[in-house]
Amino acid sequence: MSRVPLIAGNWKMYKTGRQAVETAKDLAQLCSDVQDVEVMIAPTFLSLPLVAASIEDTNVKIGAQNLYFEKQGAYTGEISADMLKAAGVEYVLIGHSERRLYFGETDTSVCKKIKAAIEVGLKPVLCIGESETQREEEKTFSILDKQVSDGLKGFGLEELAHLVLAYEPVWAIGTGKTASVDQVSQVHQYLRSLLEKLFSKDFSNQTRILYGGSVNPENARDLMGIEDVDGALVGGASLDANKFINIIKYNS
Ligand code: PEP
Repeated sequence: MSRVPLIAGNWKMYKTGRQAVETAKDLAQLCSDVQDVEVMIAPTFLSLPLVAASIEDTNVKIGAQNLYFEKQGAYTGEISADMLKAAGVEYVLIGHSERRLYFGETDTSVCKKIKAAIEVGLKPVLCIGESETQREEEKTFSILDKQVSDGLKGFGLEELAHLVLAYEPVWAIGTGKTASVDQVSQVHQYLRSLLEKLFSKDFSNQTRILYGGSVNPENARDLMGIEDVDGALVGGASLDANKFINIIKYNS
């Protein structure tokens, strides 16, 4: 089963609308000859429609960094799945560790958000990962098991057809500490069999599992070469189009 790698850039709370459009256009230009790799960028909510309009008809896709699970209503400051869809968004990050850490995201809210995304045809990127303490206490696999099982509770196979999983050890995000090839390989193999146990072998084989955590142009090739790694979720190194393209073109 061949899975087209996805290289996704999470721009977090960086860049004004104008700066986001500039970087997106530069990136789209640099990506014009990219084949066999899907590229996605996730700017802030405010920049989404501007960026979407500026790189329409290029091979760079648009993602959002979050959504709220209700359809509409008195939820000051929130954005619904429908609104994202209307702004030209294709993917949405759900349960990023920064959302879990600073904004009280739980596996239950993650599950509701995945449902809301699927209902409008957005492709959810479910972010999971253990903290440093959890790894030291040898709880990595049980934490991941819970995040995946609870995050995907109640879904049928058809609903999850476009799900992407992103393994991001919290201790490797924005720290410059990358997980080793052995650590990533072990976890991705574990996740692949977990998806098989929870759903089916076909589903497990078709679902992309990204690695995220201090991916940069120097380590991308080694990380992307791991058998069960189907791309990357990149934070810091995705903010600069010239740097990000070297991750996207990790194979050349
Ligand atoms: C992220 O934000 O998902 C991430 C992996 O960040 P960084 O690449 O900066 O570690």
